[in-house]
Amino acid sequence: MPPRPGAEVSELFPSVQQEIVNLCASPEVRSAFTWFRAQEPQFAQWQLELARIAAPPFGEGARGAWLAEKFQQLGLEPVQTDEVGNVFGTHAGYGHGYVTVSAHLDTVFPAGTPLNVRQQGSRLYGPGVSDNGAGVTAILAIAAVLQATGLRHALPLLFIGNVGEEGEGDLRGMRHIFSAPCWKDSIHYSLVLDGAGSDTIVAEALGSRRFEVIVRGPGGHSWSDFGSPNPIVVLARAIHAFVQTPVPASPKTSFNVGVIRGGTSVNSIPESASMRVDIRSTSMAEMERLERSLRHALDQAVEQESQATGARASSQRRPFGVSCELVAIGNRPAGELHPNAHIMQVIRAVDAQLANAAQVQRASTDANIPLSLGLEAIAIGGGGAGGGAHTLQEWFDCSGRELGLKRILLTLLGLSGRAR
Ligand SMILES: [Zn+2]
Repeated sequence: MPPRPGAEVSELFPSVQQEIVNLCASPEVRSAFTWFRAQEPQFAQWQLELARIAAPPFGEGARGAWLAEKFQQLGLEPVQTDEVGNVFGTHAGYGHGYVTVSAHLDTVFPAGTPLNVRQQGSRLYGPGVSDNGAGVTAILAIAAVLQATGLRHALPLLFIGNVGEEGEGDLRGMRHIFSAPCWKDSIHYSLVLDGAGSDTIVAEALGSRRFEVIVRGPGGHSWSDFGSPNPIVVLARAIHAFVQTPVPASPKTSFNVGVIRGGTSVNSIPESASMRVDIRSTSMAEMERLERSLRHALDQAVEQESQATGARASSQRRPFGVSCELVAIGNRPAGELHPNAHIMQVIRAVDAQLANAAQVQRASTDANIPLSLGLEAIAIGGGGAGGGAHTLQEWFDCSGRELGLKRILLTLLGLSGRAR
């Protein structure tokens, strides 16, 4: 996706850039970079191991237990798992507040999906191997390099393997973390690692609201009960009105009617009909406006069908009522990072230092939750390259992972600050 005009920062703060230059020149950081190169076989091994542990939505427990064990082996202290299954490990620092680096543990694949995970040369294959095998492996690589090199930093680093990013998980892991005041008030910066790559910065949270709309009526025979309200007609009336709602080009906003169901036979008036509606925007206000428009279109449609029913029904027949229910099936908050936010300055200085070209994007990630709360957060990739996300043919190429890891390490050290 092209960067949003205005999202580009024209100038970098020289002090931030100098800090990154200094970091890169330090012997500890140089030895960390060398260490990354030597350890690639270990990283690939971890990635294969974790991808072999199924982690369907609401079933991340086994993968979480594996991660907690790794956190312990890598010297994070304390290592904790919360009541929803998020795994935390701390690398101590000197200041108050945390810089978090997180990766979601869950995959889109339902329980029982065959996990044919394998390696061919520099390529790893298997469901979830990149999304989010790449992100989880990257947080392990960062914890490992801190242990191996003794690198120190100011603010403590909080490593998180979180649950519930994909689909019906609806960001439940992150939502849980940021609903706890102890975390919400102490996390200063959130770096989310999602999937492969080093060439993107997600700084805008694409929000979404999803609804299942169910319309119910008395049903009946198409001939003898003619005149009864028809739920399919109610949906048709509502869709016709709703899709005429104007949407702005900026902030980009969209809607979709993705599924429609109802009825049993051509000569029956249906007893029910349903549809699924998706609303997306980077603006909470736009999503709320579209939701109101959908509710209004439904109310009007019920009203119109009730009136039409009264006109169609014979004087002896009393029309039965028709009802409409709107059930929320997804809700991801929207938000954007200020272009001059400190986290943006740091990642851009890091990219400049590493001669890495990255684009600012909008997407729906775990960063939606802190961004919607006005906190500083971005989502980036775990390095390497990947493809076929959310398919059984998913792959990850380890070549170039090193660049991604350097980028993550420098960003975390830049955000945390130097240990004094
Ligand atoms: Zn992901």
